[in-house]
Amino acid sequence: MARFPRPHTPRLLYTLYSTKTTTAHSSSPTAALLSHNLNLQLRRFSSGNLARAAKEGEEPWWKDSMNRLRNIGISAHIDSGKTTLTERVLYYTGRIHEIHEVRGRDGVGAKMDSMDLEREKGITIQSAATYCTWNDYQINIIDTPGHVDFTIEVERALRVLDGAILVLCSVGGVQSQSITVDRQMRRYEVPRLAFINKLDRMGADPWKVLNQARSKLRHHSAAMQVPIGLEDDFKGLVDLVQQKAYYFHGSSGENVVTEEIPANMEALVAEKRRELIETVSEVDDKLAEAFLNDEPISSTELEEAVRRATISRKFVPVFMGSAFKNKGVQPLLNSVLSYLPCPVEVSNYALDQTNNEEKVTLSGTPDGPLVALAFKLEEGRFGQLTYLRIYEGVIRKGDFIHNINTGKKIKVPRLVRMHSDEMEDIQEAHAGQIVAVFGVECASGDTFTDGSVKYTMTSMNVPEPVMSLAVQPVSKDSGGQFSKALNRFQREDPTFRVGLDAESGQTIISGMGELHLDIYVERIKREYKVDATVGKPRVNFRETVTQRAEFDYLHKKQTGGQGQYGRVCGYIEPLPPGSSTKFEFDNMIVGQAIPSNFIPAIEKGFKEAANSGSLIGHPVEHLRVVLTDGASHAVDSSELAFKLASIYAFRQCYVAARPVILEPIMLVELKVPTEFQGTVAGDINKRKGVIIGNDQDGDDSVIAANVPLNNMFGYSTALRSMTQGKGEFTMEYKEHSAVSHDVQTQLVNAHKGTKATD
Ligand code: GDP
Repeated sequence: MARFPRPHTPRLLYTLYSTKTTTAHSSSPTAALLSHNLNLQLRRFSSGNLARAAKEGEEPWWKDSMNRLRNIGISAHIDSGKTTLTERVLYYTGRIHEIHEVRGRDGVGAKMDSMDLEREKGITIQSAATYCTWNDYQINIIDTPGHVDFTIEVERALRVLDGAILVLCSVGGVQSQSITVDRQMRRYEVPRLAFINKLDRMGADPWKVLNQARSKLRHHSAAMQVPIGLEDDFKGLVDLVQQKAYYFHGSSGENVVTEEIPANMEALVAEKRRELIETVSEVDDKLAEAFLNDEPISSTELEEAVRRATISRKFVPVFMGSAFKNKGVQPLLNSVLSYLPCPVEVSNYALDQTNNEEKVTLSGTPDGPLVALAFKLEEGRFGQLTYLRIYEGVIRKGDFIHNINTGKKIKVPRLVRMHSDEMEDIQEAHAGQIVAVFGVECASGDTFTDGSVKYTMTSMNVPEPVMSLAVQPVSKDSGGQFSKALNRFQREDPTFRVGLDAESGQTIISGMGELHLDIYVERIKREYKVDATVGKPRVNFRETVTQRAEFDYLHKKQTGGQGQYGRVCGYIEPLPPGSSTKFEFDNMIVGQAIPSNFIPAIEKGFKEAANSGSLIGHPVEHLRVVLTDGASHAVDSSELAFKLASIYAFRQCYVAARPVILEPIMLVELKVPTEFQGTVAGDINKRKGVIIGNDQDGDDSVIAANVPLNNMFGYSTALRSMTQGKGEFTMEYKEHSAVSHDVQTQLVNAHKGTKATD
C-alpha cells in the first residue's frame, strides 16, 4: 500500500502534459480522478490535440495536474532540523544525489548553516521556491524567511503557501520561534502538519511535544504515527491510518520496508489510533457519525477525514521521525500529498483596481484571465530572477503580460522552473504553479495579468512610513554592502523607505514601526555583515492647517544687473475631509497678472515649502493652495523669483491657518491571559490609548485599542514583563490624527530646543 519511490534522477523537460503513469494508490482521495484524467491526457496527447475546452461531462484539462500540485513551506525554530529535513526531501525526490551532512552542536564539528553548505558543496539547498516531484505529484517547497518577525516579506511568503510543515524538536519541544511562526500561519490561514524530529536523540519524548503543541500552540492535534523505539533504539514508525510498520533500510534510509505491527505494540497502537479517531471526530461530522455508531473505520475513511479536518484548519496531524538518521521522511512526504490542499482547495482573492480595491474571489483555475504575483526577487547567475505564483489563468513564454502596479506591458522572455541546483525551461505554466521569469523589471509584490483585468494580489495603497531612524555603517569600507542591503530591502518591501537627511547628510530609514526597522538593522548586520550605528527612532509626525489664511507676498530684489520680482496673492486652506490627496494647487487667476509660464514655479515653491511646516519641521499635508492674483515685471520676473515668493508667502500665512500636528495612531491587538487583562488595559490607558474592543478567547482576553505610536516605544519589552512573557500583540497603522494641545506645545518646544542647539 505504501508509496515510497526510490530516489530517481531529475526528470528534465517534465512538462505540463507529462503522460507518465501515476503510482498513486487507491486510497488516495484523488485516485479516481487521476486515472480518469490520465486517460484523458493520453488521448489528447496521442492525437496531438491540445485543445483546452472541456466537453460536457469531461473533467477540465487541468484538473489532474492541479490535484497533483502542492505548494508548501517548512517552518521551524532554529536548530530543529529544517535544513536537514529539506535536504533529505531533495534527496528522496531525486533533486540531489548525495546527502551532505549538516554537522552541528549536537553532531561533530562546527555548525554549517545552509549557506555555508551551499558554498562548500556548490549546491543550492533552498532557492525561493524549489520544485520536486514525489509519486508524480509536483511539490514546490517555498522558502519561508528565516526572520520570523512581521514584515511584508514574511507575509508574502505565507500568502504563497497552500500548506506547511511545522518542524518541532522532540527534545526541545515547542520553543518561542515555533510559537511565532505558528501564530503567523494561523493568521494567514495556512493548513499545517507537525513533524516531531530528532527521535534518535537522548531525551526524545514525542508525547510530551504533542502535549505542548496542544497547550502552547492550541493545536487540535493527534499523533498519526507511533515510534518503534526511541533514542538509540529508534527503528521505525507505525502508521496509525494504514496500521502498518515502516522501517528505513539502506545507507540513506532509501528502502522503506513495510511490515506488520510488532506484536508488543498492538495495544499501544490501538489506543493511539482510537485517540486519533476521537480527536478528528470532534471536528469532522462524517467521522463522528461512524465513530459514535461504533462502526469499523477503514483507512480510507480515516485518511479522508484527516484530510478534510486538516484543510479546514480544525486539526493538525502529527508525524514523527529523525531527518538526520533518515527515518520518517518518505511517510512525511506522502502525508503532504494526502493531507495538505492542492491550490484549488484554498480560496484566494484579488483586489480590483477599477473598483476601489473591491475583493474579487479568484477561481484559482487556469480558465480565468492570468493573475500572477511576483513574490520574490533573486539575483541569479543570469540576472534578476522573479518568482511568480500564478493564481489564475495560464502564462506562456512569449506572452505579453501587464504589470498592474507600474502599468508596464512586458514580454515573457524566458520561463523556468527552479530545482534545488538547476533550472528547467518551460513553455507554459498554469494557475497554482510557481515559476520564475528572467529579465523582468519589477518589485516584489507586483501583480501581473494578461491585461484584461486590473487585479492586484496586494493593496496598491501602501501606507506611509510612520517611524524613521538614522543609520550609518561604522566603517567606510562597508558602504557598498550597506547600500546593496538597503536597495534590496526597498525593492522587497514597499513600506520600507530610504532617504537622506538634508541637514545632517545621514541615511534615514523609515518603516511601519520600531520592530519593523529593528528587523532591517539586524538583517544589515547578519546578512550583509555590516556593523551599523543606529540613531533614536522618531515618529513621523505630519502637520496640517485647520482654516483658511490669505497670502499676499511681493518678492523684490535689486542687486545690480537683473533683479528679482514676483508677487503672489491667494489663500491656503485645508482640503475637504475625506479627500485622499495630500496637496492641491489651483490657479484661479483671471487675466495675465502672472504670465502662465511662471505658474509651475509657483506650484513648486509651495510644494517645497510644505515639505517642512514651521511647527516641528514635518511635512504639511491635506493642503490646498489657491492662487488668485499677483504681479510680474517685464524684465525682473523669473521662475526663481516666483518660486521664492511662493516659499515666503507660505511661511507668511502658515501660522494664521492655525496649523496642528498629526501623529500616527496604531491599531493594537493584544492577546493576554485573562489574569493580566486589568494591568494591560491600565497600561494602554496610560499610553493615551482608546480601547475599542475586549473579547474572550478561551483563557485569553483579546483587546483592541487605538494608541498613538509615539507612546508605544519599547512596548514588546513592557508587555513581556507585564504578562510574564505570555502576552502577544500586533500593531498596524490606522490613521494620522491631531495631537492634543499639550502634546503639541511639548513637541513644538522640543523642536525649538533642538533647533537652538543645532
Ligand atoms: P535548522 O536550524 O532548523 O535548519 O536545523 P539544521 O538542519 O541545521 O539542524 C540543526 C542540528 O541538528 C544539526 O547539527 C543537525 O545535524 C541536527 N539534526 C537535524 N536533524 C536531526 C535529527 O533528526 N537527529 C539528530 N540527532 N540531530 C539532528
